Parts: sequence; structure tokens; C-alpha cells
Amino acid sequence: MRPMQHSSKLANVRYELRGPILHAAQKMEAEGHRILRMNLGDTAPFGLEAPESIVVDMIHHLRGAQGYSDSKGIFSARTAISQYYQTQDLMQIGVDDIFVGNGVSELISMTLQAFLENGDEVLIPAPDYPLWTASVTLTGGVPVHYLCDEGNQWWPDMADVEAKITANTRAIVIINPNNPTGAVYPRHILEAFVELARQHDLVIFSDEIYEKIIYDGRRHIHMASLSDDVCTLTFSGLSKAYRMPGYRAGWVALSGPRSAMAGFKESLELIASLRLCSNVPAQHAIQTSLGGYQSINDLTKPGGRLHEQRDRATELLNALPGVSCVPAAGAMYLFVKLDPVMYPIESDEKFVIDLLQEQKILVSHGTAFHWPTPDHFRFVILPSVSDIEEAVRRISIFLAVYRRK
Ligand code: PLP
Repeated sequence: MRPMQHSSKLANVRYELRGPILHAAQKMEAEGHRILRMNLGDTAPFGLEAPESIVVDMIHHLRGAQGYSDSKGIFSARTAISQYYQTQDLMQIGVDDIFVGNGVSELISMTLQAFLENGDEVLIPAPDYPLWTASVTLTGGVPVHYLCDEGNQWWPDMADVEAKITANTRAIVIINPNNPTGAVYPRHILEAFVELARQHDLVIFSDEIYEKIIYDGRRHIHMASLSDDVCTLTFSGLSKAYRMPGYRAGWVALSGPRSAMAGFKESLELIASLRLCSNVPAQHAIQTSLGGYQSINDLTKPGGRLHEQRDRATELLNALPGVSCVPAAGAMYLFVKLDPVMYPIESDEKFVIDLLQEQKILVSHGTAFHWPTPDHFRFVILPSVSDIEEAVRRISIFLAVYRRK
């Protein structure tokens, strides 16, 4: 029998956050080790539960949600999303401009499939949330990474963005608030992106899944609120702010010049119809989530769990010799730098595996986020303060030995 082959389409597709390092940790757990997991942005294992009213509402709808829905999503969910954007002064997003999906992840691949030709270049931040790079590659596009500047709050280096635009560039991905850096972009940076998109006729893919996880009284600005003449796709969903990543509910909202977007919208409708519809019970949670009490604000304000954990993790990591991190302004991650002189790391993947094996703590290596040099790791701030303290203690022991190697 001929062996089943690997598809060559996957040759350059990487998504290391769920790759061999996670499998090594799972194996160690199966052998009885307790691993401190500071690696994934999943709220559930850390007791950050979905608001009870939303869960009750979903259970209530379960019996009536057995059938397929419209491929674009149920009407009540799309109306609630459109109404939410109206409260944000985004009047141009109507019910018909919204597609509901099995999380933002599914909508990223659907929209790229509907849009990209082979060889089209897409600008993606470095560091990135690596699903974007993987999805562009899988769709036949070419990811081109623009640098974000650690010395300037991890905001995008707009000169680098501009320098990377070529005749083949079709789109810019903006992740704001950002995974993995925790940056929240100010208006002037977002306006500069709009101006570049306008000048070079680029589509903006704005990943705003962390839009409500913001600290220190900052405000999140929707990309789509800054223009009505640039084709903009705004992604968001229930996974983070409403703590229900496993239910799989997200959406993309189309805004910009209607005539220029008509063909793309038809393609997206076709792609959406090919997967019939997204998980229907979870779609019922959207209206209740957006319309109900926004308990995420209790977690992100001073005294709230996420706020405390962010502060404690930042303080402890910055106190380690040769270790530094920019405090997260939003989202739930720190992208931590290791001084390359003090820690001359050749492979950050090996660094993370050694840390896992020696200290039973799991973080994600920086190059998995397409950061060009092996001198960063991502630290998730979802665990409790006591687990964060224990994790940093173990990192500190590991680094003391690592330095002498
Ligand atoms: N976009 C970013 C920036 C993320 O960090 C994540 C998940 O971690 C996603 C999208 C995926 O979200 P979803 O659960 O809606 O698929």
C-alpha cells in the first residue's frame, strides 16, 4: 500500500504553541509531574470562569440549537454584534456585514482563503500570534514580518512597516491589544496604518480579540472607527473577555467601501457555506455576552485578578538579573527578554525544553512568535499570584545555573 503522504502545502506551516514542547509537558504530566503551565492563553484551567448568566443562557438554548444555522450566523447574534459596534460609534457595520465563526481562528483562515492569491504578501507583526503567519502560508500567501519596538512599548515600527511594502503587498495584519507583547496601540500609530493602507491600497485585518482586556484606564481604539474608505476586517469574539475559549464563538465584521468589498464578500459567503455553519449553541451566547454585565472590567481594574497578576509577574520578572519585560497594557501576556550577553542562547526552543525538564515549568519560546532572535519567551499572566511567584522562583533557579553553562 502506498503510504499516505504529507501535503507539501504544509511544508512551511508552523504552529509551535501546540507542538512538541507541549507534548513533552503532557507526557511529563502523564508520568505524574505537576507542571506549572504559563504557556497558553486559556482562561479555564486557572479558575477564570465564564459569567454564570451566559452559561445558563446557553444551557437554556441547547435543546433548540440542534439544527444548522445560517452560514453567516444566527440573526440575534449578528444583530447584537452590530448593535455593540454602534455603541462604539461604528455605525457603518450592519447585520449583513457580520460573519460568525468557530472562534476568530476559523475566521482568519476563511477570510484569507476568500481573499489571497498565491504569492500575495501580507504584513504581519513580529512578534506575532503565529496562527496568522501559519494561515497566510497555508493559503498560498507570503507572510512578511514588520518589527514591533520593545524600546517603544512594543508599538509597531512604522518605518519598518513602510519599508516592507512591495508591489505584491495586499494586506496588513494588526493585533491590538497584542499577543504576545501586551501592547495597546495609540491613535497616532493606528492612523499611520490607515494612511499606509490608503496610499498602497491595502486591506486591514484587525485582530481585536483582546479589545476588552485593557489595564490602567487605557482605551482600545477600533481600527474600523478611523476610516470609511479603507477595506477593514475586524475580528473579535467570546474566547478571552468572556472566558469561554472552548465554546468557540467569534466574528468578523466588514467595513469600508461597499463596492470595493462586494466580490470579497461573495467569496466569504461561499467559504462560509462550505462549512455549513459554526457551533450553534455557542452562537446563542453572543447576545447575552455583549448585552450583559461586563465582568471582565472587574478583573482588569486595580484590585482585580488579572491586574494583580500582571503587576506581580512584571515586578518579579524585572527583578531577575538580565531579565526585563515591558508591562502589559492589555491582553494577558508578557514577552520577556533575556539579556543575550548574560544568557547567550543559541536555541530558545532548547532553552524552554531544558526549563521544562529541570524546573517543571512551561513557557513559550519567542521564535515561535516569529521574533527574529532567540532571546525572548512568552509568560502567561493567567495563573494565580502564588503560582506566578512559584514560576518566577523556578525560572530564577534555572537562570542562575544556565548562566554558568
Ligand atoms: N487572535 C489572537 C491574537 C489570539 O491570541 C487568539 C488566541 O489566543 C486568537 C486570535 C484565537 O481566538 P479564538 O479562540 O477566537 O479562535
